[in-house]
Amino acid sequence: MKHVLLVTGASRGIGAATARLAAARGYAVCINYLRNASHATALAAEIEAAGGEAMVHQADVGNEADVVAMFEAIDARLGRITALVNNAGILETQMRVEDMDAGRLARTLQANVIGSFLCAREAVRRMARKHGGAGGTIVNVSSMAARLGSPDEYVDYAASKGAIDSFTIGLAREVAADGIRVNAVRPGLIRTDIHAAGGEPGRVDRLKGSLPLQRGGEPEEVAAAILWLLSDEASYSTGTFIDVSGGR
Ligand code: NAP
Repeated sequence: MKHVLLVTGASRGIGAATARLAAARGYAVCINYLRNASHATALAAEIEAAGGEAMVHQADVGNEADVVAMFEAIDARLGRITALVNNAGILETQMRVEDMDAGRLARTLQANVIGSFLCAREAVRRMARKHGGAGGTIVNVSSMAARLGSPDEYVDYAASKGAIDSFTIGLAREVAADGIRVNAVRPGLIRTDIHAAGGEPGRVDRLKGSLPLQRGGEPEEVAAAILWLLSDEASYSTGTFIDVSGGR
C-alpha cells in the first residue's frame, strides 16, 4: 500500500527533518508551509532528486478553507492520505501572562490547537474504515512545555501544547476502532528557528547545561521518534507520548 503523509510546517526545523526522513523511508510526502516557499520547494526538489515523491502546498493550518483545499490537493496529487504529522506551531515573544493581549492568545491557539484539530478532522474523514479508508496514523507535535508551563516565557504556548496532549488522548480513543492510531512527541530544547521567534535565538545554549544530557536536541532526533510512531513497529501504541527532551 502506498503511504501518503502530510507534514504541516515542513519548510524548516522539525517538520523538514520529518518530511526528509519519511521520504527516505518510502512515504509520498506533502510539504506544507505558511510563508517560506523557497525552503519548501528546495526540500521537495531534494526528495525528488533522491528518487522520492513530494509535493508542496501553502496553507495556514489555522484557516479552515486553506486546510480543506490542502487535503483536496493531496487527494488529487498523491492519493488518499494514510499519515499526518501535526507539526506546524508558533510561539510569540517571551512575556509574562499579565502582559499578554487577546490577539496574541488567539493567534497562538488558532495555529497550534485549531490547526491541529482541522488537519486531524480532514485526515480522519479519509482514513477511517467507516468512511471507506484503510486506517492510518497521526502524530501530534506537542512540547515538554505542556508539562513545564514555560513561566516567564510563554505560558500561552505551553497551554496550547497542554491542549494538544488532551487532544491526542481523546482523539486516539475516539478513532481507534476506525483503524487510526494517534500519538504525540514532546520535544524539549531543539535547535530550530522557533527560539528566535520568541526573541532569544540563543535559548538552547543558555539552558542546555540544565539538561541531564547536557546538550540541545537536533530536529532529526525528533523526526526519528515521529517516524517510529507512524510506523507499524508502533502498532500497539495509541494515545501515548514520547518525550524527546534530553531527560528533562
Ligand atoms: P520552526 O523552525 O519555527 O518552524 C515552524 C514551521 O511551521 C515552519 O515550517 C512554518 O512555515 C510553519 N508554520 C508556522 N505557522 C504555520 C501555520 N499557521 N500554517 C502552516 N505552517 C505554519 O519550528 P520548530 O521548532 O521546527 O517547531 C515545530 C513544532 O515543534 C512546533 O509545533 C513546535 O511547537 C514544536 N516544538 C519545538 C521545540 C523546539 O525546541 N524547537 C520544542 C518543543 C516543541 P514557514 O517556514 O512558511 O514560516
